[in-house]
Amino acid sequence: MFINGKWVGSKFGKFREIINPYNQEIIAMVSEGDENDSKAAITAARKAYNQGDWSTMPAIERGKIVHKIADLIERDREELANLESLDTGKTVEESLGDMDDITAVFRYYAEMAETEIDSEIINSPIQNSTSKIVREPVGVCAQITPWNYPLLQASWKLAPALVAGNTLVMKPSEVTPLTTIKVFELMEEAGVKDGVVNLILGPGNSVGAELASNDDVDLISFTGGLETGKKIMRAASSNVKNLALELGGKNPNVVFADADFETAVDQAMNAVFFHAGQVCSAGTRLILEESIHDEFVDALVDRAKSIRLGNGFDKSTQMGPLISEGHLNKVINYVKKGKQEGVTVAVGGELPDNPELQNGFFYLPTVLTDCTTDMSVVQDEVFGPVITVEKFITEEQAVRLANDSIYGLSGGVFTNDIAKAERFAAKMRMGTVWINDVNLYFPQAPWGGYKQSGIGRELGKTGLEEYQETKHIYRNLKPKPLNWFK
Ligand code: NAD
Repeated sequence: MFINGKWVGSKFGKFREIINPYNQEIIAMVSEGDENDSKAAITAARKAYNQGDWSTMPAIERGKIVHKIADLIERDREELANLESLDTGKTVEESLGDMDDITAVFRYYAEMAETEIDSEIINSPIQNSTSKIVREPVGVCAQITPWNYPLLQASWKLAPALVAGNTLVMKPSEVTPLTTIKVFELMEEAGVKDGVVNLILGPGNSVGAELASNDDVDLISFTGGLETGKKIMRAASSNVKNLALELGGKNPNVVFADADFETAVDQAMNAVFFHAGQVCSAGTRLILEESIHDEFVDALVDRAKSIRLGNGFDKSTQMGPLISEGHLNKVINYVKKGKQEGVTVAVGGELPDNPELQNGFFYLPTVLTDCTTDMSVVQDEVFGPVITVEKFITEEQAVRLANDSIYGLSGGVFTNDIAKAERFAAKMRMGTVWINDVNLYFPQAPWGGYKQSGIGRELGKTGLEEYQETKHIYRNLKPKPLNWFK
């Protein structure tokens, strides 16, 4: 753990084994903290915020350090990608792509620091006065991340928080901390001062819960599951913390009969089987116009059968394992429940029999048909390589199906009728809508959810504003008595 500029073990000297989900080998032992370590990290961040110069130095100076962090991530790109693949099981090609996206996020916010991010003059409606809007750092930020995109999710939080002038305590998922540890080494090398960034490791219900409830924390930014998000929201009420939640999704992907068939099939595959479906914005609910349903499902089944499962370090591998045994069991149970509720398993629905895969947490790419919105496998976030297929006849019915979810993170629509696409996008209750594409994001566009997919936005200008308080400074240029109370 990294607290107040020093690498330290947990107060009680505990460790945790970090497991490779491809073969269950132990790849590292890391410190396992508890709430006392969280408290020490919060104290360090508070001291650095109150007494250090990070929050008061010109944003442009902070931007230079964030640029340096981007340089170092670029320098160590392959090492970081290898660590990410060892820890998550995803292919190295995917991890390399993640590292490029992460560098881009640090660069984007570093460049933003060179623009007018902390003050603007507005036209005061009152004579002989000036009105200035100032954006200040929020203070001490706690940041909690999940295991599916460990370093990518961390970068969406670290870069804007630093540029805005906050100090912070980060807690990565206890299952996948390795790349985050490495990036803290890089932040130290880049010259971030003691106490500005602090890293604690350990389970959510002690280390994480302390971050959410501690009154010395001004903001908590969390990415993870819905139930954890609700707990954090409750805990954060203790001192009315600023709150940013990036939670789950059950994202529709709607295909009209007039869409380009090959593109829509290919993208539907990518939407759900990329990273074994462990993607918050995975297009897991395929909603097909009835006239193309059978042909589309046949094409999907054919292609799902040929996906090569394996070791993320093998260049021919297209899909890695799930993250853990517990998570694999969750996916197995959802498909089992789906069968009881009446789905048809068109392909997959079981563990692979390939001997090479027996020590990993693998599940076959699965297509379920005859699905309806009342089924739990259609409503709940399965977070695995499982796609459910529903049908529609009218556009209005497609809109209704797409929006029939407690979540509202993202959705896709495929059609060659642009007017229809725009009409449809306007009616989708989601933070991101893709027309003729899926799963695309970049630093310039805000990311976040409607409904129970979360509160607030990461990335884009909005992602920086999450880490800023807004102050209005009004100045009377000709002060004189009001004489109201004569
Ligand atoms: P999770 O909720 O189990 O854990 C996320 C983090 O919260 C971990 O670091 C964990 O230790 C911590 N945590 C657990 N209990 C806590 C508590 N009581 N207090 C404080 N912290 C606690 O989620 P996960 O299984 O790691 O990740 C998968 C979930 O993340 C999925 O639901 C996925 O959709 C979501 N996700 C969302 C986005 C997005 O942008 N909306 C991105 C990636 C992942």
